[in-house]
Amino acid sequence: KKKIVIVGGVGGGATVAAQIRRTDKEAEIHLFEKGGYVSFSNCGMPYYLGGVLESREDILYPAEEFEENFNLHVHTETEVTRVLREQKQITFQKQDSATQEETLSYDKLILSPGAYALCPQIDGMAKARTFTLHTIPDMDAIDQFIEKHQPATAAVIGAGFIGLEMVENLKARGLHCTLIDRGEQVAKLVDKDMADHVADHLTEKDVSLKLHDGLSSFSNEGKKLHLASGKTVDADMTILSVGVRPNTQLAVHSGLKIGNTGAIAVNQFMQTSDPDIYALGDVVETPDSITGVEQNVALAWPAHRQAFIIASHLTNKKIPYQGTMGTGILKVFDLTVGSTGHTSTTLKQEGYTFKEAILQASSNVGYYPGSDRLWIKILFEAETGLIYSGQVVGYAGADKRLAVLATAIKGKLTVYDLQELEIGYAPPFSNSKDPLNILGYKAASLIT
Ligand code: FAD
Repeated sequence: KKKIVIVGGVGGGATVAAQIRRTDKEAEIHLFEKGGYVSFSNCGMPYYLGGVLESREDILYPAEEFEENFNLHVHTETEVTRVLREQKQITFQKQDSATQEETLSYDKLILSPGAYALCPQIDGMAKARTFTLHTIPDMDAIDQFIEKHQPATAAVIGAGFIGLEMVENLKARGLHCTLIDRGEQVAKLVDKDMADHVADHLTEKDVSLKLHDGLSSFSNEGKKLHLASGKTVDADMTILSVGVRPNTQLAVHSGLKIGNTGAIAVNQFMQTSDPDIYALGDVVETPDSITGVEQNVALAWPAHRQAFIIASHLTNKKIPYQGTMGTGILKVFDLTVGSTGHTSTTLKQEGYTFKEAILQASSNVGYYPGSDRLWIKILFEAETGLIYSGQVVGYAGADKRLAVLATAIKGKLTVYDLQELEIGYAPPFSNSKDPLNILGYKAASLIT
């Protein structure tokens, strides 16, 4: 029977463990997690903080239950410290420092150590009121600070996924928020013309926006933020959501190949440069489905798919990973924002020429209650009409249009195919011609 050791027990690690157990009842599986929790839903943390979820337990999976359900060995609060490739062993250290470092051998090792939240050291920063959100202890620290100090105001630095979700959820806890980003737009997963609708919505929701401005320093015990422009913002607490970086230390120290993006390089079966060591999730780079260029994408879907690829490969089923499109979606108050494929900026950076079509439409028939605005944008190849990317911003039905566009890109459909999609119509859902059909006609007219 195979002995499989997994490093990291959350998005990729817990999933690959469960997948392997489904296909191999015999394997001895050890799952190491340096934190106290396995298989928790990181994605649910902002909603717990906002009070949308009633109980902390909603996003947790007790380690003992996980161990029992999948018949494996779970080692929480235990950090894997080194990989000794020649001996095919790892060393690990329990958090309680009383115990010595121990070793364990493996037949196959799987690395899913994720990423860490960037936390730049900024002058005057007060640790007690400045937070990142990546782990359950991070979440608890934010929650406890709010409960204990009843802050009235928060500054959120970085208007990406986590920053935007935190603004909404801190507002739900009664805090007035200032969202600060050094870029010219919020939500860089979409183009600026689409993101402007998100910025308008944030303003409608009484969020103060400071774009094109960075945080330079703090004063007054971390309660006054000084921005690059010279402006100041007062905030009782600050969330830093300025990005993540892959946790590559173990891979680097054991001499595994690191790719151009700084993440672990893997082949199409998620094997690293050592074929007995696989890696997945936020720590790897994979080819972009459109351009083929390697990229490091920190999202849950790739981690889950890669877990399946690895579990299959371990039972001699060779299913190649076909690349990452980077489809992302998020809720910003009442708005849905999503994209699949590239933005104009990243597609231009890769040297692509393309045309774009944008449509402002209604989610469904105007006379039916709930009908609201919907913006859809696609980028496509100028001659053939092949769709490169799709972006949506809207209220009802925006997620459906994003899902259709993600499917269209995967199926290598063109703007002409968009005209032909029978999406299904009744007044609560669409129009007899769906906005995606209309966008197909509009885009085709730009070609001819
Ligand atoms: P993780 O799930 O982060 O797991 C890595 C684990 O490895 C960590 O628990 C870490 O403690 C452990 N570890 C690291 N080094 C060691 C070591 N040496 N020894 C032992 N253990 C170690 N994605 C989406 O697609 N949609 C969302 O809505 C979404 N929301 C998110 C919200 C938040 C607040 C966060 C933080 C992330 C969100 N993500 C979302 C991203 C998604 O959670 C990750 O892409 C996914 O969890 C990646 O899985 P992973 O296994 O690579 O990393």
